[in-house]
Amino acid sequence: MIPVNEPLLDGNEKIYLNQCIETGWISSDGAFVERFEQAMAQYVGRKHAIAVANGSAALDVTAAALELGPDDEVIIPTHTIISCASAIVRTGAKLRLVDSRADTWNMDVAKIEEAITSHTRAIMAVHTFGLPVDMMPVLDLARKHGLTVIEDAAQAIGQTYEGRQCGSFGEISCFSFYANKHIATGEGGMILCDDDALAARARSLRNLCFKPERRFVHEELGWNYRMSNLQAAVGLAQFEKLDAHVARKRELGRRYESLLRGVRGIELAPVACAYADNIYWVFGLVLDESVPIDADEARAMLAEAGVSARPFFWPMHEQPVFMKQGLFEGERYPVAERMSRRGFYLPSGLALTEAQQDQSVAAVRNMLATFL
Ligand SMILES: *Cc1c(COP(=O)(O)O)cnc(C)c1O
Repeated sequence: MIPVNEPLLDGNEKIYLNQCIETGWISSDGAFVERFEQAMAQYVGRKHAIAVANGSAALDVTAAALELGPDDEVIIPTHTIISCASAIVRTGAKLRLVDSRADTWNMDVAKIEEAITSHTRAIMAVHTFGLPVDMMPVLDLARKHGLTVIEDAAQAIGQTYEGRQCGSFGEISCFSFYANKHIATGEGGMILCDDDALAARARSLRNLCFKPERRFVHEELGWNYRMSNLQAAVGLAQFEKLDAHVARKRELGRRYESLLRGVRGIELAPVACAYADNIYWVFGLVLDESVPIDADEARAMLAEAGVSARPFFWPMHEQPVFMKQGLFEGERYPVAERMSRRGFYLPSGLALTEAQQDQSVAAVRNMLATFL
């Protein structure tokens, strides 16, 4: 079975991990954490970086650091991972959802303004699958209405928008180093921002809100969301390979694209759009209406051919956990609904071989040939 995502760990990972073990520095107090933070801050062009346990933790800390609360609303795409929504909902703030674009598979920024109310505090932009969100209109709206921009750049490490690094826009940005991201630490995440006070709040929230002057006395509740030195050691080694990882992702994506472009029954994301080249975090496809099955059935057929594919996100407005709370009643987001039912992605890991890619493409073609 071709795995949907196998990471590539062929740099200094072992050397740095050995240093952790030989020196005994395995907790978050080890030196690799700060080195990894500084490397990321400098690369993205931000003043502060706060390493955390995972990308979802980065979002939790971000929402808390911004002091969101029950009077606030935050605009997010409905087609995203639950982590974006749960971070907001846990502060008591309300979600306002926006549909996606059928071409870039990213948040439709033209639909943001109609979601803005007098309670709106923030817009969360989530760069999805390989192309960034169209950030300029988001930043313009934020300026016009006095809103905070949160960037979820988990899938866009090394991607740029109009030549500027993703994760450098807005007030605060979040990254994930889960095993399928461009930098993989197994589990890991990071928060980047420029504001000193916001960074200090995020650092404190990551570390149980210990007070520097008197440990074990707390004025606020935080989390233990620290990143270990072991994770950071792997992270730094992966960071050293980031440009190669990004180039490899683009190479894999473009090869898939050249083998599948024009095949009847499927829609692909563009190789490039007006403001960015696709980084192909994953290679996705959407079955069009000529294919009489949905993505789940298609994935089952691919699995029989030894290819594991993964579905697109399930929209936030159709999440049982939110429907049980009576949220989003009667709201419809047709593009995201279609993507969730008809979209999936092919094996896209950095360790993918050409032979595995060819097998995946053949499986897709054979699957489609049974219908078309
Ligand atoms: C992976 C991912 C996350 C969550 O990161 P974890 O490290 O898995 O918690 C958040 N947002 C997006 C867009 C992601 O792709």
